[in-house]
Amino acid sequence: KILVPFVGLVLAFCFYSKEDFKPEMLKGKRVIVTGASTGIGEQMAYHLARMGAHVLITARTEAKLQKVVTWCLELGAASAHYMYGSMEDMALAEDVVKEAKQLWGGLDMLILNHIGYTYFNYFDGDVEHLRKLLEINFLSYVAMTVSALPVLKESGGSILVVSSTAGKVGIPFVAPYSATKFALDGFFSSLRQELIIENINVSITLCILGHIATETAEKTVSHVMQKPGAPKEECALEIIKSGALRKRELYYPYAAVRIPLLIRDWAPEFLDSFTRNRLNVENVKRS
Ligand code: NDP
Repeated sequence: KILVPFVGLVLAFCFYSKEDFKPEMLKGKRVIVTGASTGIGEQMAYHLARMGAHVLITARTEAKLQKVVTWCLELGAASAHYMYGSMEDMALAEDVVKEAKQLWGGLDMLILNHIGYTYFNYFDGDVEHLRKLLEINFLSYVAMTVSALPVLKESGGSILVVSSTAGKVGIPFVAPYSATKFALDGFFSSLRQELIIENINVSITLCILGHIATETAEKTVSHVMQKPGAPKEECALEIIKSGALRKRELYYPYAAVRIPLLIRDWAPEFLDSFTRNRLNVENVKRS
């Protein structure tokens, strides 16, 4: 007798609190997407263009960025621009935000997505590689956030940080990459708390992704994965939706990412062994 109204209440709460995503939410919004010359970032640029947003994209390869910008304009972007260079250079990270301010007079969404090259193998002891990767995958995210916060405060905007299951649990063969992604969780989860305490209307969404079928992932990890990656187009859309809805975290693909995270604190040894068994570790030869 008690169960029925209780379940009803829970369901009512779930539906009441769930705001639906509408593509119009992005119409005319001013968005920076980093690492958008290929992969998930490129697909995010196309989704945003179809939704009528202004986009400013970044990566190192100018020719690829030019093609993405041309296609964004074809798809209906309100405007499309690019800046190229390596995010090892913190001045570039800051200049990208300055460019957005100059172009549009403000910013609504900052999507931090780029990553530097790393190997998929046993940790080789190269500390310099880790230092460089931290600069590209972590410090540049912080530098862009610092530059963007004043304008995001004005617009009540959002920051989307693209991370990975490897930024939440221990996965073998990605030690340097994993370190940079854990750093993002620590920094941005702490910053989110401070924004809430100070009543600052800027949302931070940490996007925790599982295996996604991008060219880079297919080249690097497909020989070790037992299942194909999830589609990059759908992944890109889910990231944009989660930012527009100002979610705290996104898990994509949901079950493949969420279940390990639920197990993590209760049965860490079980999760470690489950993770190792899900990989064809025999295909990784120490280089
Ligand atoms: P890609 O390799 O396809 O894209 C990486 C982007 O970053 C490219 O645009 C690349 O362009 C740019 N980039 C590379 N080096 C630098 C640099 N030094 N400075 C500035 N930009 C650089 O990656 P994915 O699309 O696969 O991944 C996107 C995000 O998703 C990443 O944050 C990744 O960690 C995350 N993710 C991906 C998963 C997957 O399975 N694919 C799984 C979990 C998380 P260019 O080379 O021209 O500079």
